[in-house]
Amino acid sequence: MQQSYEVIIIGGSYAGLSAALALGRSLRRTLVIDAGDPCNKSAPASHNFLTHDGAAPAEIGRMAREEVLQYKTVAFLEDSASAISGADGDFRVSTHANGSFQTKKVVFATGLHDELPDIPGVRECWGKSVIHCPYCHGYEVRHQPTGILMNSEHTLQMVNLIRNWTEQLTLFTNGPATIDRDKVAATGTRLVEQPIDHLLHDAGQLRGICLTDGSEVDLRALYLHPVLTQKCPLPAAMGCELADNGTLWVDEFSMTTVPGIYAAGDCTTHMRAVSYATGGGTLAGAMVNHGLVIDQSAARA
Ligand SMILES: Cc1cc2nc3c(=O)[nH]c(=O)nc-3n(C[C@H](O)[C@H](O)[C@H](O)COP(=O)(O)OP(=O)(O)OC[C@H]3O[C@@H](n4cnc5c(N)ncnc54)[C@H](O)[C@@H]3O)c2cc1C
Repeated sequence: MQQSYEVIIIGGSYAGLSAALALGRSLRRTLVIDAGDPCNKSAPASHNFLTHDGAAPAEIGRMAREEVLQYKTVAFLEDSASAISGADGDFRVSTHANGSFQTKKVVFATGLHDELPDIPGVRECWGKSVIHCPYCHGYEVRHQPTGILMNSEHTLQMVNLIRNWTEQLTLFTNGPATIDRDKVAATGTRLVEQPIDHLLHDAGQLRGICLTDGSEVDLRALYLHPVLTQKCPLPAAMGCELADNGTLWVDEFSMTTVPGIYAAGDCTTHMRAVSYATGGGTLAGAMVNHGLVIDQSAARA
C-alpha cells in the first residue's frame, strides 16, 4: 500500500464510496479508510433507494466497494483513522493498525452516532421494529399498531406524519406530556403518559410496550428520534465548525471551514437517506477534484 495519496476519504460507507467513485473516475490517487460501522447496520433491509429498494444494507455496501475498487487509483483500508494533522496540500492521517498516510485533501464521510434512549429492548429492536424514518420503513408496517416515543415541540408534526401510514397510532410521552393534549386527541391518536418500563419483543420484532404500572400496549412498530452526535471526533479536532444542530458545516462545494477538508453524507445533515449520502458523496468527490485542479493550475502559473 502506498504511503502518499492525493485524497484520503475517512469513512467508506455510502457517502465515502460515492466520493471515491467520482475521484477514481477523475484518475485521483485515493485512499478510503473505513471502520466498518455504518449507522444502518442493524436494519435487515434498506428502502427508498432507487434500484436497491429492499436490499440488505451490507449488500449495497459490498456492491459499492466492488464497483469502486475497479478503479486502479483507489485503495480501500479496513481500519479506523485515529488522528489527523497538517494543512491544505499536506495532511497526515494516522490509523489504529496501519501507520500513517500523507495526503493533499481529506474528505470526512464518517456519519452520525445514534444515541438511543436507555429503555430495555430499544437497542435490540433498533432498525428492525424501532425505527426513525417512515420513508425508510413505514410502508412495511403500514396499518399496524404503531407507537411514537416523543415529547418535544416536533411531536404533533410527527403524529400527523405517521398517521399517513397507520390509523392505529399511540403517542408515548414517557412522563407528563409537554404538548397540547387536545391537539393530540384531535388527530385521533391515543396518548399514553405513563412511563415506559421495557419493550416486549421477539428477536427485535416488537410485540408491545410494558409500562411502569404493569399494563401493556400492543405494538408492531415504534418511531423515535435518537440524539444525533458526530461519530468521529477528528473533524472537530481539526477545527471544522459545526452547525447549530451538530452537523459539520459545509459550503456549496462540500468544503468544511478548514481549507482542504471536505465532508459528505450524514455527518453534514440530519436528512438521513442512502440516496442523500450517495448524492453528497458524488458532489464532494467532484469538488475535491476541482480543488486539486485549481492547486495544480496555481502551481503551474
Ligand atoms: C437504523 C437505520 C435504518 C436506516 N434505514 C434507511 C433506509 O431504509 N433507507 C435509507 O435511504 N436510509 C436509511 N437510513 C439512513 C442511512 O443509513 C444513512 O443516511 C446512510 O447510512 C449515511 O451514509 P454515510 O456514508 O454518510 O454514513 P454511514 O453509513 O453511517 O457510514 C459512516 C462510515 O464511517 C466510518 N467511520 C466513522 N469514523 C471513522 C474513522 N475515524 N475511521 C474510519 N472510518 C470511520 C463508519 O465506520 C462507517 O462505516 C437508516 C439509518 C438508520 C440509523
